Amino acid sequence: MSNCIAPHEHEELMLVEEGIKPLAIIYHDKNPKMYRAACSSSLIKHRKLVRAGVIAIATKPQYIDIYMKLVKDRKLYTRTTFQVLMGGYLGYTSEEIIMYLTSNESKTCTCIECGGELK
Ligand SMILES: [Zn+2]
Repeated sequence: MSNCIAPHEHEELMLVEEGIKPLAIIYHDKNPKMYRAACSSSLIKHRKLVRAGVIAIATKPQYIDIYMKLVKDRKLYTRTTFQVLMGGYLGYTSEEIIMYLTSNESKTCTCIECGGELK
């Protein structure tokens, strides 16, 4: 097993295009090239602008709906529970999620997918 805490990083678009990953959240600011490709790829069947400069791409539309609800209901969950749920919808394995939970990033990252505040 790799020690990488974000094993899908830089591969998200391809993994969703190939149906390996059910859902990915792509930030324009973090990866403008992938963001533009995600907006135009004909292999992506379901996409939605979820916040300014943030696009969700998915193999099924309900994955985007679940993502939106999870973010909206963030305060109902502990940070750890939120991370486990989000990690599962983003297609990470139990092993990858457990590895992530032991990382420093899981406790400090401010991004919404890691349980940070919605700004
Ligand atoms: Zn994060």
